[in-house]
Parts: sequence; structure tokens; C-alpha cells
Amino acid sequence: MVAYKSSLEFAKEKDQQDPLKAYREKFHIPVINGIETVYFTGNSLGLQPKSLGSYIEKELEEWKNWGVEGHFEAEKPWFAYHEFLTSKVAKIVGAQENEVVVTHSLTTNLHLLMVSFYNPTKSRFKIICEKKAFPSDQYALESQVRFHDLNPADTIVEVGPREGEHLIREEDILKAIAEVGDELAMVMIGGVNYYTGQLFDMKMITEAGHKVGAKVGFDLAHAAGNVKLELHDWGVDFAAWCSYKYLNSSPGGVSGMFVHNRHADNKDLKRFAGWWGHDKSTRFLMEPGFQPIPGAEGWQLSNAPILGMAAHLSSLDLFEEVGMDKLIEKRIDLTNYLEFIINDLSERKGDLCKFEIITPKEESRRGAQLSILAHGMGKPLFDKITKMGVIADWREPNVIRIAPVPLYNSFEDIYRFGECLEKAISNG
Ligand SMILES: *Cc1c(COP(=O)(O)O)cnc(C)c1O
Repeated sequence: MVAYKSSLEFAKEKDQQDPLKAYREKFHIPVINGIETVYFTGNSLGLQPKSLGSYIEKELEEWKNWGVEGHFEAEKPWFAYHEFLTSKVAKIVGAQENEVVVTHSLTTNLHLLMVSFYNPTKSRFKIICEKKAFPSDQYALESQVRFHDLNPADTIVEVGPREGEHLIREEDILKAIAEVGDELAMVMIGGVNYYTGQLFDMKMITEAGHKVGAKVGFDLAHAAGNVKLELHDWGVDFAAWCSYKYLNSSPGGVSGMFVHNRHADNKDLKRFAGWWGHDKSTRFLMEPGFQPIPGAEGWQLSNAPILGMAAHLSSLDLFEEVGMDKLIEKRIDLTNYLEFIINDLSERKGDLCKFEIITPKEESRRGAQLSILAHGMGKPLFDKITKMGVIADWREPNVIRIAPVPLYNSFEDIYRFGECLEKAISNG
């Protein structure tokens, strides 16, 4: 591997050699106050593909020209629109096609899946999750527990970092699973932690959960389109993710869900049903008696929001073109370069600047995001770099989250970020 250098020339050279360099041109990079931003918040809201407008325009045309007939007469008939997304999404998460569907929003999907996969009994009712999970996930878990007339405090077992540490040791998750044992009904964890960027070994956690008889699901909001996923092979029971972070598919965009094939035909699973999950051949007969479509499609409630689906499709087509493997290869290089730039700056500036990257150092334990503790510098430093055109994310008390995204970020972005940091520090 080439040794990294903190120079503009080096960064530009890397960009020249980048096989994915043409993709940056396919996205709108925000220009704020006349400055082209260094955009590092693809983990929060991905940038807009330039092609996205035409995908939405197309559906607006269909609606204009066909009205309700568009459900069957549109080039991509709306009644089956989600099916045009399925194979592309399946590749991103490592699933078979009938295991995934794009529908609803993320928290909604988590609830729908937990209705099916969290079925507490008197003896088996506990949930294991990560401490400081994303708030929506915490609320979802607590309300699921209350929905079954249980008390969250006696039911939810949170696994957190050990005293003085930032990351959760996987051995501690496995230990908790083994300890809760026969009482464990479900494990539900973020595949990549939104705060620290830690990527968990989902295969290992799934096996451990299954060994004690629990169901295992993951929130993949920070994992989908970012890291290698093999949901089918890992045997994960269920998962859901949003499409607007690494998948660039518009603010509040549609979500994806995964249900493992082993549950595809299980009609005994409890679920909240709607007409779109009903057997397609008899859906429009509008007869009573819910017959779920086998596989993930059976969890759909409503007909799909076509404009949001079209936005998602425009981005999925880019992922399809590039493929996850190439994206991951570039992502690793970008994130390693970011790590180098931050550490290099810390070394050169000594006491002036103390950055501590809390994200794991190992490539296999992280995705694009690095979370940086800015000791003693905090919010004022962050505000300064924002003024210089760096769009990053600040989390109290003092964490800056930076996510270089392989589809549109460049090595030059990272160099410029380092330059902004250095200026901000030097100005006191
Ligand atoms: C972004 C994110 C969400 C957001 O949920 P929505 O239902 O899409 O608003 C939920 N959970 C995690 C872990 C997230 O990162």
C-alpha cells in the first residue's frame, strides 16, 4: 500500500487514479455561501443524484397522462413498482430477492418486524440491545415492550462499553446473550453504531442469539450501502434500513426490510397486515381474509409512495452500476486517508490539538464513518470549520462524526478538511 501524504498534490493524484472518480460528477455537491462544501454527512443525508429529478419527472408524467390507469399502464406499473427495486436492494444487503422489500419508513418497519419477531412469553421475554442506541430505536423497543404489558426496566438488557472505553466489546454482547439465555426473546442491534461508527460482527451475534433460541434482528440505517452485508448467509431473522443515508434517496425516503427465507411461508407469525401484503392474485377482489404474500412482500401495508420509490430507484441504479465491492474498496482507502490526516495533524500540532478517533482502527470493524473526540476544543472548533465549508456532524458532548462516501467524496475533500481543521486550530 502507498504511504499516505498530507499534501494537495498527493490527494489529487489519488483522485486521478480513482476508478470511481466519474461518479462525483453524478451528484449535486452543495455550494453554500459561494463555497463548494466538503460534504461529510452522507451518513445522515446522502447527496442528490443528478439523475434523480428525471426519475421523478417520469412518474409525474405518467400520472399526468394516465391518472389512475398508471397503476397498470405506466411503463413501470405502479401496482408493481416496488418489484423494480427488489433485486438491486437484495444485492446491497446480501439477500435473496423474496427476502427484501422496499416500503414504509424505517421506524415503522422496525415496529412491523418486531410485531412478528418479538413474541414474549412468561419465561422468554428479554431483549438485548446496545446501550445508547439511536433514540428512535430505544423508543421503538420500549413501546414494543409496553405493548406486551411488560416493564422495560425488567425486559431490556443494554450492553454498553466498559468503564473508560468508547466501544462495545463483542465478547460482552456474546456474554450477555449467553447469560440471559433461555429468557432471551430477541436481540436487536444497530449493525453499525450511529455514534461511534463501530461495525458489529452480525454473523457471530446472530449465531449466538440463535444458540439460546432467540430471534435476531438488525437496524442497518448506518450499514446499508456502506459495509458488506450477507444477511441471508448470516441467518439474520429480520432487518430494516432507511434509504436516505448512504443510499442517497431523498430526505425521509422509503425504507427497506429483510425477512429471512426460513420465515417466508410461516403463516403463524403474528403481523399487522394491510392490503399490499395480501396475495397479489386476489388483492383486487377485496375479499375478507388476509393471505400474506410469501416472503418480505407480505409485510407491506400500503401501496408504495411512487415519487419516493422513484428517487430511491435512481440511486439504486448507481449502486447497481458500481457494485458494493468496488465501493467498499474505495471507502476503505478514503477512510484510512481521513484517519491518517487527523492523526498527522494531531502529531504535528501536539498540545494545540487533541483529536481522539473513537471508531475502531480495524477495517473489518468500521464503515465510512470516523467519530472524533475533540478534547477541549469542542463546538467552537466545529463552528469554525462549518464556516469554512465543511459539512460534518456534531454530537454532544464533543464528538464530530465524519463520513467520506465513496460515490461522491474525493481524497481532495479529505485534504481540504485537514486544512480547515489546521486553520481553525491555528487561529486560536
Ligand atoms: C437514521 C436512523 C433512524 C431514523 O429512523 P426514521 O424512521 O427513518 O426516521 C432510526 N434508527 C437508526 C439507527 C438510524 O440511524
